Amino acid sequence: MGAAPLPSRSVHTVDVLVVGAGLAGLHTARLLALRELSVMVVDRRRSLSAGIRTTGIFVRRTLEDFDLPDHLLGPGVRDVLLYPPSRRAPIRLTSDRDEYRVADMAAVYEHAHRAAEAAGARVLLGVRYDGGSAGLVRLAGAEPVTARFVVGADGARSRVARELGLDVNRRFLVGAEIAHPIASGTTTPAFHCVLDPRLAPGYLGWVIDDGEHSHVGVAGYPHAMRAGIRHLLDDFAAHAPGRAVPTGPIERRGGPIPVGGVLRRLACPAGLLVGDAAGAVSPLTAGGLDPCLRMSELAAAVASAYLRTGDERCLDRYAGDALRRRFRGRLLLRRVLAGIRSPAAAEAAVALLRGRAGRAAAARILFGNGSFPAVDSLPGAPAHRGGAAARAARPRRP
Ligand SMILES: Cc1cc2nc3c(=O)[nH]c(=O)nc-3n(C[C@H](O)[C@H](O)[C@H](O)COP(=O)(O)OP(=O)(O)OC[C@H]3O[C@@H](n4cnc5c(N)ncnc54)[C@H](O)[C@@H]3O)c2cc1C
Repeated sequence: MGAAPLPSRSVHTVDVLVVGAGLAGLHTARLLALRELSVMVVDRRRSLSAGIRTTGIFVRRTLEDFDLPDHLLGPGVRDVLLYPPSRRAPIRLTSDRDEYRVADMAAVYEHAHRAAEAAGARVLLGVRYDGGSAGLVRLAGAEPVTARFVVGADGARSRVARELGLDVNRRFLVGAEIAHPIASGTTTPAFHCVLDPRLAPGYLGWVIDDGEHSHVGVAGYPHAMRAGIRHLLDDFAAHAPGRAVPTGPIERRGGPIPVGGVLRRLACPAGLLVGDAAGAVSPLTAGGLDPCLRMSELAAAVASAYLRTGDERCLDRYAGDALRRRFRGRLLLRRVLAGIRSPAAAEAAVALLRGRAGRAAAARILFGNGSFPAVDSLPGAPAHRGGAAARAARPRRP
């Protein structure tokens, strides 16, 4: 079966329907539109600044490889403080470079929205994908469209994945955070991480700020959060280390985080998956923003090659197996984190990290380049060039 042929009826027809206007969807849509394809993006959210699900911490490697406008990012963070459950004597790790920057995510989505539209994509908000694959697609809030190809960028519990018969995420953490304004200049940038299975079973509690907003969050395995995540978060926030006093309204964010690794079957002649829908999140750090950008480049290259040629072999390049192999170490460490089930075990784990070898291992995870494997080295992937080189190399509309 080749790409779905264009119908002759009067229903609006697009080459690609992208479901989801998160970072993965908007970035993929922009890249597809730059490749001369007609692209429509739909998102059930009415505004991209509502219902944000992420803290917005970008790691150094993402900032080096992709062009995120500087004014959307908070100051660089070089210090990580790792606390045991007792909160006594945290381990401080300091990098000689800026390792993290927290973004104003509402502004990042708006920027990505404008960039997708400037490239030629049509973005419809308040429109829900209600099923259908290549061919006629049902939408709530808009007329149905005919799409040759559907990109599922619809998050961790992807409906597109189910409709297309692709793999679906099965292993999740759940994360929640509060974000609020703080008086500027009152904090020193630092990333506070608390290892305590009573509040964040299988993951961490965190506090970080972008100089203007503080973010306090917890994530963990939902089945082990007997008190409920909202209660655990409020409890943590009341005594969280490094949290600055709120000077404005508190916003709540949260959602599921797939941690089973990149899914195997990510593409078929009717469409493909990107971002959380593809399980493209580091199983260890739960970071998903870098893979949203990184995998979208390959997704756009593969989809446009397929739509141009109709050759299904193009889709073989977008297979999760090659990436999964590089996740072995991270999946193993995920099991180690999941195995820390008591405060005593967490105290012991932090104690292990106090030694020279432990500190070096922690620094490798926190400051290394390996949160998510490079996609560019996969067979057939487009060579990725960051910064100005990337801008110059991208295809442009005439
Ligand atoms: C509390 C929390 C904090 C996090 N913090 C970080 C962090 O600091 N750094 C980091 O790297 N990662 C972080 N992550 C993970 C990261 O945020 C995600 O991996 C990333 O945002 C996923 O982006 P996405 O575009 O794939 O999906 P999403 O951002 O979830 O976007 C999916 C979009 O699809 C839309 N949608 C869904 N279904 C439909 C439908 N049927 N019709 C139309 N639209 C639909 C949704 O409205 C949504 O806008 C965090 C996750 C959580 C839960």
